[in-house]
Amino acid sequence: MSLSLAQLQRDYGHLGGGELLGPMIRDVFPGRIALVSSFGAESAILAHMVARIDPATAILFVDTGRLFPETLAYRDTLIERLGLTNVRTVAPSPSAIAAQDPHGELYSINSDACCEFRKVEVMEKGLRGFSAWITGRKRYHGGERSALAAVEHADWRIKVNPLAAWTPQQLAEYFKTHGLPAHPLVAQGYPSIGCVPCTSQVAEGEDARAGRWRGQEKTECGIHWSVDGKPIRPSSPSPSSAATG
Ligand code: SF4
Repeated sequence: MSLSLAQLQRDYGHLGGGELLGPMIRDVFPGRIALVSSFGAESAILAHMVARIDPATAILFVDTGRLFPETLAYRDTLIERLGLTNVRTVAPSPSAIAAQDPHGELYSINSDACCEFRKVEVMEKGLRGFSAWITGRKRYHGGERSALAAVEHADWRIKVNPLAAWTPQQLAEYFKTHGLPAHPLVAQGYPSIGCVPCTSQVAEGEDARAGRWRGQEKTECGIHWSVDGKPIRPSSPSPSSAATG
């Protein structure tokens, strides 16, 4: 199957959740699509959907080296509970850490540079060989996510956002319906969970992502931004044949 972004949006852009993921994993990108998961607060939902479609689907987990130990434990819990067979943990190399952040303080000096080498570069390497990736972003997160399409592209890859239109109520209902375990930090006031130095607890009434890079203008790690520093938009120019299979 070979489809342009416009064709993908026309045929699948109105779908969400498992209805979108099923054809993406089975038909459009068989063996060439990966779920990128932080194993954070809401990650169990997509992991569960993927497991029901094909538990051997690649799941990329970027271990920045600054994550909460609870997140690593939660990853292992979900692997076991959901029967995931292809979770790939990728991480910055010891030499990259020694060269770029030997004292572990780069986050406080230049958080963009820290995210770049600990997350963006690592994920880009992990995605080599894949034509598409699945993200857990949602429109209700606001900011540059407000206009998120279900299917978009970043550079020459397709991005699939099955939860783009989902609400917090739908997410909570999915957890309940399927008996999914919660990330242990959610109950401690962390509705959005990243690295230890850049994640703080959120007070009642604050946005879910208010605890990420608190006090900075930064709201994204760079994974969801294009190489020229602009947010990825569904209206970006489409490659002539973005999906093949
Ligand atoms: S979230 Fe913070 S610690 Fe993690 S990679 Fe980005 S700047 Fe570094």
